[in-house]
Parts: sequence; C-alpha cells; structure tokens
Amino acid sequence: MKICRFQPVVLQAPESRASGETRPDPLSKPTPLFGIVEGGTVREALGDFAIGWKPGARTWTLPEIKFLPPSVPSKIVCVGRNYRDHASEMGNDVPPEPLIFLKPPSAIIAPEEPIVMPAISKRVDYEGEIAVIIARKCFRLGQNDDVAPYIAGYTCLNDVTARDLQKSDGQWTRGKGFDTFCPFGPVMETELDVKSATVETFLNGVKKQSGRGTEMLFSVDVIIRWISQVMTLLPGDVIATGTPAGVGPVQPGDVVEVVVSGVATLRNPVIEQGS
Ligand code: ZN
Repeated sequence: MKICRFQPVVLQAPESRASGETRPDPLSKPTPLFGIVEGGTVREALGDFAIGWKPGARTWTLPEIKFLPPSVPSKIVCVGRNYRDHASEMGNDVPPEPLIFLKPPSAIIAPEEPIVMPAISKRVDYEGEIAVIIARKCFRLGQNDDVAPYIAGYTCLNDVTARDLQKSDGQWTRGKGFDTFCPFGPVMETELDVKSATVETFLNGVKKQSGRGTEMLFSVDVIIRWISQVMTLLPGDVIATGTPAGVGPVQPGDVVEVVVSGVATLRNPVIEQGS
C-alpha cells in the first residue's frame, strides 16, 4: 500500500464541486492529510504509523493535491558508507560497524520543491537512498527481536551533501545539514521487500547511481537494532540506509530524481541561493 501525506490544492471537497455547490474554504492552508495512492487518485487514509491504514471516504485526483514528505520525523538518522562501491569511490574503507549521523528536520523539503545550493559551498552532491519510516517507539531492541513491527514503510530520500564542507569540517553536521538538503517522499510503500529493491538516481534524466538492497553492508534489521542501542526511535522517524556508488555534483537548473523500485520517484529541481 502506498501512503502519502498531502495537502489538497483544490479547497472544496470533490462532492460539493460535482453538485455545483460553491463553498469557500476558511483555511488558506489546509491541514495535511494522509492518503492511499491508488493509480491516479488519492483516497483519504485513516490510521497512523503504528496501527496501519484503512481507506476513508474522500478522494482526490493527483492534480488536486500537493505531496508532502510522508512523515514529520523527530530526526533523520543516516547510515554512511553502507555500500562497498560508494565507500571505495570516496577513498574510504568499509566501516566495521554501522556509521551513523543525523540530518536536522529543518533540512526536509517536499517532492518538487527546490534544493538550494548554499553560496558557501563549491560542491553539492546528490545521494539517492532507500529510507525507512519507523512505525512505533523503539529502544534497545535485542539481537533476536523482530524488527518488522517497527517498520511503517519505505520511501525515497536524497541525502544532499555539501561535499567540500563535509571534508573540510571533518564531521558532517554542516555539510549534511543545510535547509533543503533532505527531500524525501513522495509516498511510503508499506509492503516493500527491501532486499530485492533497487535505488537509482537520475541527473537530468541520465542514470548516475544504481544499487540493490542486497548490496547494503548492514541490513535494515541490523541498522535499526544498532540505532536503537543509542537513541529512541519514534513513529515517523526516518532512517536513510546509505547511498550506492556514483555520487556527483549538481548545478543550478539540474533536476535530480531518486527512484526506489516498487515505491516511487522523488523529483527535485536545484537552484542557487538567492535565486
Ligand atoms: Zn548518504
């Protein structure tokens, strides 16, 4: 099931428009809703990350909605160097244990919103990744605990990185943390078999990255158990599982697409600061 979070851009309910009724909406910014994407329509979804989702009554067509990131995480936990080929292209050995870092929630943008290249960076890279959305509160899972009940679903994420600042700082908060550096969405697939999934990144339509879930050095299960030894994961939290080889720079005017098979395409244009 593909779950999205969205805002209707047509403010009247579809039924009232069909009956010719005009009903001004008092809210200029409607409250985000959750939906189930079914082909070209979105049906209201009732539920939450922990209990799951069931269809509601209202539906919208895709032009009537704006996709938002599918969750509002308290944190985005990322795994560095989780694909051997990417570790070696950056001149690094593979880590003996998962290497984790954080992106701030202020870096989140929606699908189609622009990634803004900061003026103080000379090199901003895309990093296409498979991301996990957490279903329920999770802390200190045991080695034999089943991780599946803690996974709400999977989505596409672009771990945008100011590569020059990441290198010069020696730690990654600034290089990974700029506003707009964490697009994710547009949907969360609840049923994905992540081991057989692929993640591909396209820059202006040209394929630049391609990786498979089976190539991850640390599997999603291992990563979730590992992170849960450190911090409490909360419903809606996002874990980015690392990027395969082929990272590279973006320029103003570029369009980056991250495609996770069986999930969706996450598309964002790139602009420069001040434009
Ligand atoms: Zn990354």
